[in-house]
Amino acid sequence: MSAAPIPRAFVVGHPIAHSRSPLIHGYWLSQHGIPGSYERLDVAPAAFPDFLRALPESGFRGGNVTIPHKEAAFALADTLTPRARKIGAVNTLVVESDGRIRGDNTDAPGFCAHLDHSLGAGWPERAGGTALVLGAGGAARAIVVGLAENGLSRILIANRTRARAETLAALAPGIAAALAWDDLPEALAGAGLLVNTTALGMKGQPPLAIDLTPLPASAAVADIVYAPLETDLLAAARRRGLAAVDGLGMLLHQAVPGFEAWFGLRPAVTPGLRDRIVADLAG
Ligand code: NAP
Repeated sequence: MSAAPIPRAFVVGHPIAHSRSPLIHGYWLSQHGIPGSYERLDVAPAAFPDFLRALPESGFRGGNVTIPHKEAAFALADTLTPRARKIGAVNTLVVESDGRIRGDNTDAPGFCAHLDHSLGAGWPERAGGTALVLGAGGAARAIVVGLAENGLSRILIANRTRARAETLAALAPGIAAALAWDDLPEALAGAGLLVNTTALGMKGQPPLAIDLTPLPASAAVADIVYAPLETDLLAAARRRGLAAVDGLGMLLHQAVPGFEAWFGLRPAVTPGLRDRIVADLAG
């Protein structure tokens, strides 16, 4: 009788060299002594549909999907979780026992799990039910859905391109609304949670120039940019004595459901894992 094949998973993107996902999953595989593999796959957009079609026969149990394939994975998966359907993008694929490919989006629960961890349960109430989200790209879609799922009653969205903020606000009708970037000072004064989902502040990008003075003293500030870990926005929040939540936790927590589906064990986001990735980011 031949031995069962080792479980294999992947992260697929183009380019893919920058992805920290192999480090995260590799850490958990090694911690738990699981004889599995997690591989980095560079697949160009034109080849992605064929890659997905061949997946059930490939021996992979599934994998993560990153830029630029999240929308294509959404369009091509056989089934979608309700959350992925709502967000319109897929970052986690699971090959089911019948060969069908299920698409999920774990960015939303990943972001919210990190807030639970950093701010403690009850953060939506402490935020007074109101969040201000900067940006309206792919990550913002997941975050707005996550915030609405967690009971935020008011989500204001400001984006350089206002039309995208309006489209995003339609994902949470009655809760989310778009506002003009010029109206930020007034919106900050009523926000219990500020979230930066723009690329501003990321290595190689301009900083996010925003005056945090109007934020209430009880407000928390989250940045999903994690390179650098301490963005100018977070440093400004700490100088004001506000709770500051970095972007790395979202990256770590979004990986949990995929690992569990492929390798059969729910892993924990521990200080040891975080230290491993922080060291890599610093290098
Ligand atoms: P995206 O879909 O390309 O969206 C980019 C967003 O940034 C848009 O709202 C865009 O505004 C805005 N933006 C870009 N350049 C700008 C500028 N010069 N001035 C003002 N606004 C600008 O990207 P994404 O996938 O949402 O990712 C956004 C950021 O989140 C990236 O830094 C990414 O690394 C980070 N991220 C982190 C995690 C995590 O796990 N922590 C997960 C996903 C993404 P327009 O609509 O006007 O173009």
